[in-house]
Amino acid sequence: MSLLCADSPNLMATLADGGVELLWHPSLSERSGEDVVTLLEDCIAGRQALDVLCVEGAVLRGPNGSGRFHMLAGTGRPMIEWVGALAARAQHVVAVGTCAAFGGVTAASFNPTDACGLQYDGDAAGGLLGADFRSGSGLPVINIAGCPTHPDWVVETLLALAMGEVAPDSLDALGRPRFYADHLVHHGCARNEFYEFKASAEKPSDLGCMMEHMGCKGTQAHADCNLRPWNGQGSCTNGGYACISCTEPGFEEPGHPFALTPKVGGIPIGLPTDMPKAWFVALAALSKSATPGRVRTNATADHLVVTPAIRKTVRK
Ligand code: SF4
Repeated sequence: MSLLCADSPNLMATLADGGVELLWHPSLSERSGEDVVTLLEDCIAGRQALDVLCVEGAVLRGPNGSGRFHMLAGTGRPMIEWVGALAARAQHVVAVGTCAAFGGVTAASFNPTDACGLQYDGDAAGGLLGADFRSGSGLPVINIAGCPTHPDWVVETLLALAMGEVAPDSLDALGRPRFYADHLVHHGCARNEFYEFKASAEKPSDLGCMMEHMGCKGTQAHADCNLRPWNGQGSCTNGGYACISCTEPGFEEPGHPFALTPKVGGIPIGLPTDMPKAWFVALAALSKSATPGRVRTNATADHLVVTPAIRKTVRK
């Protein structure tokens, strides 16, 4: 469904330009019912080439490993069988979204449907296809994690596959395409000035950085959401909501309310990636002592109260 938001440029034109022929998509294709079953059977039998199998949503192994919680209508076969048979034929297998990649929200709590990802069960390799699975290309499952996933991540992955530009080192340790997973959500966030001075939001709608109190995990979450805005300009943090790290396995059960930062001794538990705790504590203390009044005031307001001073740019 996220892919349907890839509207600029036009999704179908972009795929066509990249040489991607869409065999079938549940929302975009006219084919349905027996036609689709025939297409899937042709792929499994090798009568139809299958370059890329994209799966969205967790796969449900329950009850008792039968997969019968999720049947493909009219076939009498569970989806896990269809997915397994198609994956064995596909040149590339792509998990679209965190549920398909790691299990996601569907696998939360006591996981009554025994949901998992295609090649991961949370952060443990395995899942439906197994840790050793490799598609026809020799690659593991490509995990375009995100809840939802960014439409451009899907399009860019498909185009890169069509151009033969995805190699093992194009993926990170969790199988995510590095073109987006080598970034952090924090990169490019409009609240960066507030972060620098640890000028923090204290309630929803405040303009300040949401790391200290409001649960933001942008300094730990792998994604380029603030470098590649959604629908041209949006992102969670731009919209005033903390990053909940939705591209990471296990994000669905953080062990605390999403919009609340867990702390020990007043220090956030989830410190920025790559930063030792002592450094963060020292930097935070220094930053807070040097916070400009403008930044401190605006951090707890819902609109700019103090604007930046105007200084002469030409000195004579
Ligand atoms: S709100 Fe989150 S992403 Fe934005 S600057 Fe603060 S920690 Fe970084």
